[in-house]
Amino acid sequence: MLILGSHVGFNNKDGLVGSVNEALSYNANTFMFYTGPAQSTLRSEIDENKIYEAYKIMADHNINNDNVIVHAPYIVNLANRSDERKFLFYVDFLKEELNRVNKLGFNKIVLHPGSAVNCTREEGLKNIIDGINMVLDNDINVTILLETMAGKGNELGINLQEIKTILDGVKYKDKIAVCLDTCHLNDSGIDINKFDEYLDEFDKIIGLNLIRCVHVNDSMNPLGSHKDRHHNIGYGTIGFDALCKVIYNKRLDGIPFILETPWVNRNSSDEYPPYKFEIENFKNKKFIDFIQ
Ligand code: FE
Ligand code: FE
Ligand code: ZN
Repeated sequence: MLILGSHVGFNNKDGLVGSVNEALSYNANTFMFYTGPAQSTLRSEIDENKIYEAYKIMADHNINNDNVIVHAPYIVNLANRSDERKFLFYVDFLKEELNRVNKLGFNKIVLHPGSAVNCTREEGLKNIIDGINMVLDNDINVTILLETMAGKGNELGINLQEIKTILDGVKYKDKIAVCLDTCHLNDSGIDINKFDEYLDEFDKIIGLNLIRCVHVNDSMNPLGSHKDRHHNIGYGTIGFDALCKVIYNKRLDGIPFILETPWVNRNSSDEYPPYKFEIENFKNKKFIDFIQ
């Protein structure tokens, strides 16, 4: 069965109920959210009543909590250890974030591995491993999914070797896995038209069972551009057909696919989310232009 949803909001007023209802408005059967602002570590207490209410709605609509994804804020950079206090702050923050994910009843959090700031790539990878080993422990039943990155600036985790290096260094093997991102793959130099060849490579080096989520995005930039700018499905350089083959790939059956495409704006005051249309197109396996 196709598990397909998008990034949705999460606010203090409606909590998880708002996120679930937003996902349902797109006819999605899963979703991904940040537990607070994506670009900061500010977090508020989570409303437990809203969790209970949200789970009732999820049950009524066959949304399985195993398919719901939380995304860690992107400012967390475990690769940079030039300021030990800051590094430890991020480690602590991530620990708390994993506890929040646990409390919400979910079990997957996507993490951008990090950027090699003030260090070599090798040192950066080592710092990420150390940081993750400080975050994970026996009690928290949440898996960290390392996202494959585009290679913008000094980003780490931009090829299978770097992802494997991190995976190999993490102690709790059952709590570390991978999230693919099609825009990032394209921008890092992987041709999505040859996605099966990539999966072969992935299987040889890492093992397909470690792919636990896929971010489905078109790209504004050509293959290997190292840019990371997401485009709406069917409007970018990857194209609808190639992305359709990704989400219907037999080897990824049952894995949650999450859209992180930009909202569409006709003009600056009139913005709308594209997800309902993108999901409909994917379900129909037919591209219908929804941006006029
Ligand atoms: Fe991401
Ligand atoms: Fe992504
Ligand atoms: Zn991205």
